[in-house]
Amino acid sequence: MVSPMAGGDPGDRVRVEALLENVADMIAIIDGTGTVIYASPAVRRVLGYEPGEIVGRPHPEMSPVESGDDPSTLMRRLYEMPGFTLAVRFESHHADGSLRIFQGIARNLLHVPAVAGIVVNATDVTEKLKVDQALRELVAVVESSADAVFSSDLGGVVSSWNRGAATLSGYPADEAIGAVLSFLFPPDLVGEADAILDLVRDGETVREHRTLWRRKGGSNVHVSWTASPVRNDRGIVSGMAVIARDVTESRQAAAALRHATLHDPLTRLPNRDLLMDRLRTALLQSQRRNKRVAVLIFDLDSFKDVNDSLGHAAGDLVLTEMATRLAGSVRVGDTVARFGGDELVIVRETADEEETSRFAARLLAAMIEPVEMDDGSELFVTACIGVAISRAGASAEDLVREADAALYRAKDHGRSAIEFFDEDLRLRARARVDLGASLRRALERGELFLVHQPVVQLGNVTLRGSEALIRWAHPDRGVVSPLDFIPLAEETGLIVPVGEWVLAEALRQISRWRRRFPLAGDYALAVNLSARQLSSPDLVAAVAGALATSEVPPSSVYLEITETTLLSQVASNLDTLRLLRDLGVHLTVDDFGTGYSSLSYLRQLPIDSLKIDRSFIDGLGVDSHDTAIVEAVIGLAKVLELDVVAEGVETRTQLQLLREMGCRTGQGFLFSEPLDTAEMERFLYAASVAAGRLTTVR
Ligand code: C2E
Ligand code: MG
Ligand code: MG
Repeated sequence: MVSPMAGGDPGDRVRVEALLENVADMIAIIDGTGTVIYASPAVRRVLGYEPGEIVGRPHPEMSPVESGDDPSTLMRRLYEMPGFTLAVRFESHHADGSLRIFQGIARNLLHVPAVAGIVVNATDVTEKLKVDQALRELVAVVESSADAVFSSDLGGVVSSWNRGAATLSGYPADEAIGAVLSFLFPPDLVGEADAILDLVRDGETVREHRTLWRRKGGSNVHVSWTASPVRNDRGIVSGMAVIARDVTESRQAAAALRHATLHDPLTRLPNRDLLMDRLRTALLQSQRRNKRVAVLIFDLDSFKDVNDSLGHAAGDLVLTEMATRLAGSVRVGDTVARFGGDELVIVRETADEEETSRFAARLLAAMIEPVEMDDGSELFVTACIGVAISRAGASAEDLVREADAALYRAKDHGRSAIEFFDEDLRLRARARVDLGASLRRALERGELFLVHQPVVQLGNVTLRGSEALIRWAHPDRGVVSPLDFIPLAEETGLIVPVGEWVLAEALRQISRWRRRFPLAGDYALAVNLSARQLSSPDLVAAVAGALATSEVPPSSVYLEITETTLLSQVASNLDTLRLLRDLGVHLTVDDFGTGYSSLSYLRQLPIDSLKIDRSFIDGLGVDSHDTAIVEAVIGLAKVLELDVVAEGVETRTQLQLLREMGCRTGQGFLFSEPLDTAEMERFLYAASVAAGRLTTVR
């Protein structure tokens, strides 16, 4: 075994051996035949062998790293030319069986007696080659990517530029590299590149930032950027890497989706959401331009009949045709929309009412043209239009509500009518709002009071009782009719406390009268209940409470519920009605005849009497139809063993006929109008004096 360090100072030798072991490179010396004559201690680490195991074995075959010249010539030269140095590569198996790749320098020192061999100084480059390979693959991937991938320094100067970037921007790599990034942006967006660079410089990654690029040639493209910092060996941010994607297509998909959610699928017109949006914008713009905005709501007359008689396909056809006509009659910038059902809406800027009126008339004329149906037949369709024109401070919602109110009135007038929301409608709408607010305070302020309309026995016209009817002494408007505020009280829920007050107040007065006037103990008190009261879970308890604190026997109390209310919520009402009856009170069906209830239905209800609606009494003896109905109701009541009260008796003829038909009880102006408490008390006094006989009736 020969060692290059044989001989010499043993201390030096140890020192050199230690050094050689600790250098990363492995050193071998081979003789002219390629046999290893020395291996440095590093082979232990690098190949897993003891140097002694290597010596004497053939060195793995080497090849030049640079393959410019003929490799075999180069190798021959290494062995033959003293001093010749060659960069070489070879492979060798590690003791663990893995194949390692080495790269290094081989130098011919055969002529140097102390060495007498070729010295090979090699490093294991297996991992490095893998990394290199991976990098090469990565570059290929980046290069072939459809995404734009590029990098820049922190000043925004482009340093790399892949093919995707070239395709997306239109600038080839040689034009882009070295240029400052701002060339990619339209002039007004140049600031964005700087803003992104600032963030990246601070070490932040900007993800999926959407912006616009100006392509070479001037066209724009929507892109999404992801920019991340590139750090140098010391971890300091030195540049920016960007991946940018063309998002034009996804923008188009998003736009299609947006279109679908904002448009009506049948007519392809904007839907309510989009219309409200446009209306808001139009209102803003009109303010600036000192113009006004008109909202026109169209409702096809008898559209339901078209659907019902000709089918939905025909209905769709008519609607689409009308939509097309409207869309064809407006200016650019106007919006035609479908609100659902057969309601089409137009929003447009207008000079004044006059102009809008002419426009609306023109549209009606366009709509009235016959529609050609699939089977060749022609259909004539008309429409009504409700119009509202903006005023200062009106919101989009206000305008649509107003146009709707106007449409409602137009439909009242019949076909092909145009109505504007005007001062009158506005005042009425306004009044309702005001009324609701002040009704709330009316109860507390004691502005509500009761009037009493006597109910009489028709046979001898004696007092049977009275119906309590509510009134409101409004501080500004005078006495307000219940027809004007009961519906409002219903809507707001105020009817519940109001109704409780009516019952308690009525019971209180009757108690007093029972004490003061020697009337029969079966004086009948009628009190009205409305729908909302009936569905209130507290009703039964409230009635029971009111009865408990008064001296009036429950059997004297008649609660009146209109037929329509009863019909609208039969099932849920039934329990309440039974519970009320269990309290001992009587139940009357008010306004009977207007709701068309059936006999079998009436039989199920725990009711005691029917109050025939005024409208039928009105026609008694005049209208044969009404007369027949009254007669039938009286007959029906007899069969069902119910009492009958005729309401709104105004003439002696009516009284006479009712008597003949066997109706025993009635109420109406013929006997007395509703009386306030003082009047009612005078009335009661007189009636008592006359032993119940009402002297006012001739
Ligand atoms: P209703 O219960 O059917 O009351 C009868 C209505 O007809 C009363 O109008 C009465 O004044 C009127 N009337 C009576 N006789 C005649 C007549 O011969 N000719 C004409 N033309 N009218 C007559 P009023 O007081 O305006 O009440 C209207 C409605 O308001 C009532 O109809 C009732 O549904 C409701 N209402 C009144 N007071 C109350 C109440 O305290 N609570 C509830 N929930 N509703 C009430
Ligand atoms: Mg009534
Ligand atoms: Mg009635």
